[in-house]
Amino acid sequence: MSETYDVVFIGGGPGGYVGAIKAAQLGLKVACVEGRGALGGTCLNVGCIPSKALLHASHLAHEAETNFAAMGLNAGPLSVDVAKMLGFKESVIKSNTQGIEFLFKKNKVAYVKGWGSIAAPGSVKVKGEDGSETTLAAKNIVIATGSESTPLKGVTVDEKRVVTSTGALELPAVPKRLVVIGAGVIGLELGSVWKRLGSEVTVVEFLDHVTPGMDGEIQKQFQRSLEKQGIKFILGAAVSGVDASGADLKVNYTLRKDSSTASLDADVVLLAVGRRPYVSGLGLEAVGVALDERGRVKTDGHGRTNVPGIWAIGDVIAGPMLAHKAEEEGVSVAETLAGQKGHVNYDVIPGVIYTDPEVATVGKTEEQLKQEGRAYKVGKFAYVANGRAKAILATEGFVKVLADATTDRILGVHILGPQAGETIHEYCVAMEFGAAAEDVARTCHAHPTLSEALREAAMAAAFGKPIHS
Ligand code: NAD
Repeated sequence: MSETYDVVFIGGGPGGYVGAIKAAQLGLKVACVEGRGALGGTCLNVGCIPSKALLHASHLAHEAETNFAAMGLNAGPLSVDVAKMLGFKESVIKSNTQGIEFLFKKNKVAYVKGWGSIAAPGSVKVKGEDGSETTLAAKNIVIATGSESTPLKGVTVDEKRVVTSTGALELPAVPKRLVVIGAGVIGLELGSVWKRLGSEVTVVEFLDHVTPGMDGEIQKQFQRSLEKQGIKFILGAAVSGVDASGADLKVNYTLRKDSSTASLDADVVLLAVGRRPYVSGLGLEAVGVALDERGRVKTDGHGRTNVPGIWAIGDVIAGPMLAHKAEEEGVSVAETLAGQKGHVNYDVIPGVIYTDPEVATVGKTEEQLKQEGRAYKVGKFAYVANGRAKAILATEGFVKVLADATTDRILGVHILGPQAGETIHEYCVAMEFGAAAEDVARTCHAHPTLSEALREAAMAAAFGKPIHS
């Protein structure tokens, strides 16, 4: 043990690497342990970034097929070179992960390659790929090990024919029939990618609706939009297993309404039934770090575990499994360790589904407000009445603003529409400042922009009427 770090982050994903950089910027001596051979975690290597590269490419293919002719562009029949597309995706991953290595050097964060575990409070053991072992002394340790795909009984993943999101980003050819298990974010984003590239996509979902936890109206319209694009849904169906013994995969499911059973044939099956915290091999039991009933590391809401000097952030603790939530927590813990008052505002964490149209949401859903018995008002505006949306042939969807019935304070915003994942942020800022719907309604928005639809929805909430509908 040569030197003592102020803090060692175990895991170089969005939580760990961002926390490490912030801690170093605040003057702490920092190391980040990562074993996958590249920084950026699931998000940059096998998650958010590669899926966005494929979503963008496949979106352009879809645009070419559906909208080009209407705009007077004759491109001829489109062909897809999957190998080249995957190469493009790899180059995007590489430039992002290498960018983090550069940031580590710039901020003097020690990048320790290998798999870390906690030998004791204050001591991190790192096992290198070559089997070598080193020990880092650390005043504080932050567990930032993320999550892994939740397995499903009766489904054996081989990442070739039966894949998780990792394998779905690597398919060497467009599968003829893709069956997706789970209508959550991963299933719908990656289902969209392969649908747009030519697969027949069927999504089998346990619940009676898509995207659990989202606003009900958004769920319904979103499902309709995806159906219009040709994605099929079998709802209220629990998948009991995938039979991979024959040339065709057989996805067996039970309909919950009458317990009848049925099956679907597929060439590729994507298992996307959630993710679970990744804590195996960390030595948490030996050092006495407590987990909750769902296997997540328990914290005090500010990143502290029950063991002094051991902290946890990101997917491994409670809350939405989102890269930006992990980043917030990384920054917050870094600030606390540097003697500042770290804080995460869990009420203003946006969630985005990068399909077409995109879904973006922040704050409470209408269902949550009803359950809380809170009096609220609703302002809505449809993109079909937005000039810019018409000009880009993207008029599907709407903006929904929920505001307190008495104070007009914005409580939640739910968007289904073009570039929703970008435009939602004006509401995130507004909500951070405790704004009322009227504040957004009275803010001048450039014309013609998609953001005007967001303002009009605020007008509908604040004044009862938007201008353009
Ligand atoms: P999810 O929890 O969003 O959805 C899983 C779905 O699978 C649920 O609707 C569930 O009802 C269904 N399901 C479970 N068991 C089933 C069964 N036996 N048969 C049929 N359906 C079943 O999980 P996910 O889509 O795997 O995503 C995992 C995590 O990754 C989420 O927390 C998500 O927020 C995150 N993620 C976020 C983004 C993004 O922000 N754009 C992208 C990818 C992943």
